[in-house]
Amino acid sequence: MEIYNKLYCSIAEDEEWIFNAIKDLLPVEPLAKALWGIHEAAKKTNPVQDVSAGIFRSDYMLHTGPGAMDDSKSTADSIWDTTLKQVEFNSFSCSGATHANKVAEMHRYLTRVGAYHVKDAPFDLASLPTNNNIESLASCLALAHHKYGPPRSSQARDTAVLFIVQPNNFNLADERPIEYALWNRETPVPTFRLDWGPEILQYTRLTESRELLFQPPWLSSSSPVEISVVYMRAGYEAREYDQTGRDARLQLEISAAIKCPSILGHLITFKKVQQALTVPGALERFLIDSEAATIRSTFVPVFPLDQSEEGLRARSLATDPERAVDYVLKPSLEGGGNNIHGEEIPEFLASIPESRWSSYILMERIQPPVLSNMLMSSIGVDSGEVVSELGILGTCLWRKTSPNGGCEMLHNSVGGWTFKTKHADIDEMSVVKGYGCFDTPYLVGK
Ligand code: ADP
Ligand code: MG
Repeated sequence: MEIYNKLYCSIAEDEEWIFNAIKDLLPVEPLAKALWGIHEAAKKTNPVQDVSAGIFRSDYMLHTGPGAMDDSKSTADSIWDTTLKQVEFNSFSCSGATHANKVAEMHRYLTRVGAYHVKDAPFDLASLPTNNNIESLASCLALAHHKYGPPRSSQARDTAVLFIVQPNNFNLADERPIEYALWNRETPVPTFRLDWGPEILQYTRLTESRELLFQPPWLSSSSPVEISVVYMRAGYEAREYDQTGRDARLQLEISAAIKCPSILGHLITFKKVQQALTVPGALERFLIDSEAATIRSTFVPVFPLDQSEEGLRARSLATDPERAVDYVLKPSLEGGGNNIHGEEIPEFLASIPESRWSSYILMERIQPPVLSNMLMSSIGVDSGEVVSELGILGTCLWRKTSPNGGCEMLHNSVGGWTFKTKHADIDEMSVVKGYGCFDTPYLVGK
């Protein structure tokens, strides 16, 4: 994950590369367009903060390559012939860290009290990995907070981390424990939350030298706090970028606060970026050869659907019902439920204007080994064949080293993991919609 962290931090400082990777999205994807517009507006001001933070999540599934599964092997054996392949890389508003932490604790608790058995032997606690996500995400934000230093504005009494969250959102339980962990540190890190939208403009303002001052509405008579770190857990949907949303995001972006992440750090979460990285030579722009080879080993083939030679080849593949079954078509949208799978691809492409095709990427289907297990979700309790997805969280802090790109890593660490399991015949992993469940892997040595 440290190499992935380094890669994405380096990309986040390479405006030209990002533009080339996402330029096909700008005319057709309102979110990409809004973010790029805010970036352009922010660029007109002299940057007053050269440090950025990132909380990333790289998602993988085990992939059973050709020939790996032969009939003489049981499913459990076939797991040994698999490799981890990347499903997607998220650089913005990554959720699930807290839930994964809590579910791992729950499974450890149930193991301790003897609730689980395999072939009449109790589960071995040592086989359940521990999960420290809440603490490691809080540590990253605390580090950024300390990097910012004491208040710069004479109007402020203190510095604090500000979580920007979606109003009335179901992610509350995923966000709150990170906030509490910041308050609960040896040296508490004051942390506040503010809803996306008009409240940002109502309760924060910029000083002349662009410190971001926050006036908590319940403390209107005392002096404001200066925001050291803005942690974004909102602003990932196009509908959030009405004029107020744009003004609010711009105010945060041009402030002296350390952004987790910046607008460029947000733009690299688009799936077009993931595809652009599979182009030969792309990784070598940011990494040394051995690092690039490690990253490349996690890729399955991904194609653009643009007018390039490769794009045209991919178009003929995607419109052929027989060949399309081995692929997933992905728009650059976040939040689950937007992908088109296998045989549905040709019909779907036929239903949208061809001018929109280039905003999609075509990804080879990962073939994960199937296991039998029981799932408990909002839909109910249910057992059957399941597959799992492993997310590795990365935490980083970096400094831009030149106006033309380049970055110096100040912190680069593996933050922890998430693990989700779903029925094998369902294409979606969305936990919110009840398809996927947070889970804990049971590690067995060979
Ligand atoms: P998002 O989370 O933004 O909706 P993902 O790329 O994570 O998009 O895809 C959603 C889900 O679809 C994944 O969690 C996974 O279950 C499934 N999926 C995505 N890409 C592939 C793939 N190449 N092979 C198999 N399943 C995939
Ligand atoms: Mg996903």
